[in-house]
Amino acid sequence: MIATTTKVHNFSAGPGILPQEVLKQAAEACINFDNMNLSLLEISHRSKNYEKVIEEARHLVKELFEVGDEYEVLYLGGGASTQFAMVPYNLLSAAGYAAYVNTGVWASKAIKEAKIIGNTKVIASSEDKKFSYIPKGYDIPTDADYLHLTSNNTIYGTQIKQFPKTSIPLVCDMSSDIFSRKVNAKDFALIYAGAQKNMGPAGSTMVMVRKDILGKTERKMLSMLDYQVHIKGSSMYNTPPVFPIYVTLLTLQWLKKNGGIAWIEKINQQKADALYHEIDRNSLFYGTAATEDRSNMNVCFLLHKPELEAEFDKLWKEANISGIRGHRDVGGYRASLYNALPLESVHALTEAMQAFEKKFA
Ligand SMILES: *Cc1c(COP(=O)(O)O)cnc(C)c1O
Repeated sequence: MIATTTKVHNFSAGPGILPQEVLKQAAEACINFDNMNLSLLEISHRSKNYEKVIEEARHLVKELFEVGDEYEVLYLGGGASTQFAMVPYNLLSAAGYAAYVNTGVWASKAIKEAKIIGNTKVIASSEDKKFSYIPKGYDIPTDADYLHLTSNNTIYGTQIKQFPKTSIPLVCDMSSDIFSRKVNAKDFALIYAGAQKNMGPAGSTMVMVRKDILGKTERKMLSMLDYQVHIKGSSMYNTPPVFPIYVTLLTLQWLKKNGGIAWIEKINQQKADALYHEIDRNSLFYGTAATEDRSNMNVCFLLHKPELEAEFDKLWKEANISGIRGHRDVGGYRASLYNALPLESVHALTEAMQAFEKKFA
């Protein structure tokens, strides 16, 4: 039996916390995978034992999203950042243009890549207020090739609560809130997510795409950047990131076994409510995101008196809390409440905040 660590409250923004039982199963598979007496790391990705893994990992995404065979699921390398390029490369035609909503660093990076591939319009942005809110009520063009959104802004702690309705293909970067809440997946033509925030370890990126939107750009395609090539190869056109996909499968199985998205959404709401309640109640802290757009995944907050930072840092470190430093562009604090983080960890943090207030307010 392999011992795992206990009781570090891991609020890391990414790579983020994974369920303890998943880590144990993953460790076991490194030594003896599927009772083969071989490590998962040393067998062919074309072996029967591994084919089962990738097939189930693809299938579970469709099951959790409740979509049918008009969608395909891929696991690719290159992180979500490669999707910033692959999305326009596969969907943006020479004569057309793409529409983007700019809600932060990740959206800006996606826009930068799209502009290299073709005509790109930013139809709404929250840059005027340091990305502290989600733009709403903007006009969505009906002639664009697609609309690109970022469902959750990991760095600024904002989240789209209601997705806009549109007749054009809707593309969404769900890297940091995938499978954290119910979404109507059929409203999206393409969803992508780097695994390392909420569905597995770094190294594999999930892409779910509705097949009818592909093959329309008339671009001569590089094979590795062509979704249709990966679909034809059942996500094994080349050697896929075998181990990250396996750990992603274990995480999705953990989610399904415990009650699926309905189950986790409830817990995620409890975690977010508990922490935002403490931020609002506590006289020493304030939240940075617009209240109605607050993310249930990444909770960003600051001290009214930044000079007390070292004192607060001492307190939460003593409480075995890890990973709540804000992004280097933003400062302050950010607590990430991904699926695998238990409610007790949030209570450990709110208790540390209360103890801090008692001492310094
Ligand atoms: C972390 C993150 C990315 C970047 O993911 P990589 O896998 O590192 O390329 C993109 N979008 C969002 C919303 C993220 O949180």
